[in-house]
Amino acid sequence: MSLDIQKIRNDFPILSRQVYKKPLIYFDNGATTQKPQVVLDEEIKIYTQENSNIHRGVHYLSEQLTQRYEDARKVVQKFVNAPYDHEVIFTSGTTESINTIAFSYGEKYVNEGDEIIISTLEHHANIVPWQVLCERKKAVLKVIPINESGELILDEYEKMISPKTKMVSVNHVSNALGIVNDVKRIIEIAHQNDVPVLVDGAQSVQHGKVDVQELDCDFFVFSGHKVYGPNGIGVIYGKEKWLNEMPPFMTGGEMIKKVTFEKTTFNELPFKFEAGTPNYVAAIGLATAIDYIQDVGIENIIEYEKELLDYATQKLESIEGLKIVGTAEKKISVISFNLDNIHHYDAGMVIDKMGIAVRTGHHCAEPLMQRFNIEGTIRASFSFYNTKEEIDKLCEAIITVKQMFG
Ligand code: PMP
Repeated sequence: MSLDIQKIRNDFPILSRQVYKKPLIYFDNGATTQKPQVVLDEEIKIYTQENSNIHRGVHYLSEQLTQRYEDARKVVQKFVNAPYDHEVIFTSGTTESINTIAFSYGEKYVNEGDEIIISTLEHHANIVPWQVLCERKKAVLKVIPINESGELILDEYEKMISPKTKMVSVNHVSNALGIVNDVKRIIEIAHQNDVPVLVDGAQSVQHGKVDVQELDCDFFVFSGHKVYGPNGIGVIYGKEKWLNEMPPFMTGGEMIKKVTFEKTTFNELPFKFEAGTPNYVAAIGLATAIDYIQDVGIENIIEYEKELLDYATQKLESIEGLKIVGTAEKKISVISFNLDNIHHYDAGMVIDKMGIAVRTGHHCAEPLMQRFNIEGTIRASFSFYNTKEEIDKLCEAIITVKQMFG
């Protein structure tokens, strides 16, 4: 293993703090990742030395920062291997990205009786915008089922797709269970039927290599805060053939070419989808975070996080009465589990008191919990700054929970 984990941990100031007088063990990386010092420094540098609204002034600061914002777009373009930088649109996060596509694509292409396909594994952010669209357009939402281990049943998906299907929208990796979906196959099947595919990459870009050209997805979305970047920034990658045809989602400043009281013409890509002042500080911070993880090395991250996941799975499985939810073979960095006869909230509270941050509840995936007939789970989600010793501490905490409630 080629990573110096202690050195990496030193890059993240929050990891050296204590919680309840115990060293913080942060296993809630699926919700948000911590930020390395370089990202924090970059944001402070912008506000203290460079701040100015972008794309507007002809003055020095504005021109410089506009350039840096556009450079950040190019960093994201390379990160996901998008063909053009104007196919990268900055949003506030995955939620806004999906809402933008659902509204805008839906406005143009979805009509009464049409169908949208999502999956049982989706986060609410990839359910509700499509549901609302279907209500608005009197379209029908269809859901790919899963088997007992949490894998999508692709045979059922193939039967579901029809000339009425207008969009398939699925996550790359499930936030609740960590299952990796075969999005390449899902896209192939959709494209055989001339249907575009949106991939929700909120839980995949931070754990592996994403190449939108290799996947051939039509849209790919993610959030900056889950990939070691700042809050309030997200991304849409979209093929220009779609983005050019789709109407804007939000309107206002910057997204226009010409405005009169009689008529407005819209700006070109990517600005057509970036109304108002964008979060340029966070966009540049995201580019810094991407540079950081590329320095750590995506291959190293994949290898080390797999080692952590395998270690944690093996150790947790050996605890009597612990049941892992989502046992599919292809998983990344997340373990969701329940303890026999112990409510996940009770367990979570005790684990928290030991300085260990895990997530409990439905993980914004209520229909998935309903599918498994459970209210929620305890979820530990790992990053390359976590260690096996921390996993040992989690196992000790679980044993204590069992002793307290057993
Ligand atoms: N999709 C998935 C798979 C997610 O994990 C999340 C965040 N938990 C979202 C969408 C929404 O992301 P955000 O809250 O950053 O908009």
